[in-house]
Amino acid sequence: MKTISILIPAYNESANLRNLLEELNCLVSSDYIIEVKDDTPEGSVHSHTICMKDYQWEYLFVNDGSKDDTLQILRQLRKEDSKVNIVNLSRNFGKENALLAGMDYATGDALVIMDADLQDPVSIVPEMIYWWEQGYDDVYGTRSDRGKESWIRKRLSLSFYYILQKMTRIEILPNTGDFRLLDKRVVMAIISLRETQRYTKGLYSWVGFNKKQVLFKRHDRVGGKSSFNLLSLFNLAIEGITCFTTAPLRVSSCLGLVASTCALLYMVYIFIKTLIWGDPVQGYPTLICTILFFSGAQLLAVGIIGEYIGRIFNETKSRPVYIVESFNEQKVS
Ligand code: UDP
Ligand code: MG
Repeated sequence: MKTISILIPAYNESANLRNLLEELNCLVSSDYIIEVKDDTPEGSVHSHTICMKDYQWEYLFVNDGSKDDTLQILRQLRKEDSKVNIVNLSRNFGKENALLAGMDYATGDALVIMDADLQDPVSIVPEMIYWWEQGYDDVYGTRSDRGKESWIRKRLSLSFYYILQKMTRIEILPNTGDFRLLDKRVVMAIISLRETQRYTKGLYSWVGFNKKQVLFKRHDRVGGKSSFNLLSLFNLAIEGITCFTTAPLRVSSCLGLVASTCALLYMVYIFIKTLIWGDPVQGYPTLICTILFFSGAQLLAVGIIGEYIGRIFNETKSRPVYIVESFNEQKVS
């Protein structure tokens, strides 16, 4: 019998865990009839029955240093349901690191990653399993609808995907997050990448394998509040760019090249002009503008280089990505 692990990172999710467990238990005890479109160009629609009882299930919660009673609730749930396993991190390490911790501890032949806040509909899982059984290794959910979200957040995140896509050769899919089913070998590939500054969405693409898209409608968060504000999303965006491309460095060298060519031409012009017409002192505004423009450009370039040096600094320390305090009730030393 194949085992499927469901990995759920949880940070201050006490309001959602019971509902989530109920939904999961409902999911794993039912049969589902799903309608899927063939992979062929004609794409005829077939219906299939997916028997969830044919699989063994593990719910792997990673408590990412929650400040509320998430851990107590998880321990209670584990007493009621032996499918629940708990990786308790020693502090809050952030979702990306919590995901790696979960992947390290997951035992299943496949791993389904979902959020604890019920935004990812469990009803899509049977379709993911269907495609996995058809031989796909990474069945990823793409939001056909982003749920309740501010206009600015939606715009910014779409523009970020656009920029990242233009800059890297790795395909980063818009509206696609961590909600996906991964075959064990994809999980093994991802856990072999121990970089400390993680941008998991990029790593899924980087490792490759056979991918398949399923569409879903993202629900609104049920309880609690999102831990990602605009600033943390901005940081994640910088992480995404700097982890996967050195294009900004190249852009700054190109800008430098263009600027020095212009400066050279201007120098020749000034030189000839002075030779022909002499040099009544003039050009204070030009001087100030040029100095300001170039100091700005230099600071920007230094900043970009600094971002990369900071990352080299962090990687060379080679600290572990996360620290586990306990697994289930056992303390990890
Ligand atoms: N999460 C986490 N550690 C963090 C922040 C979030 O494990 O430091 C988890 C959180 O509990 C949830 C998932 O990551 O299960 C997604 O977080 P959230 O709903 O806040 O993000 P959003 O859906 O707004 O992008
Ligand atoms: Mg959420």
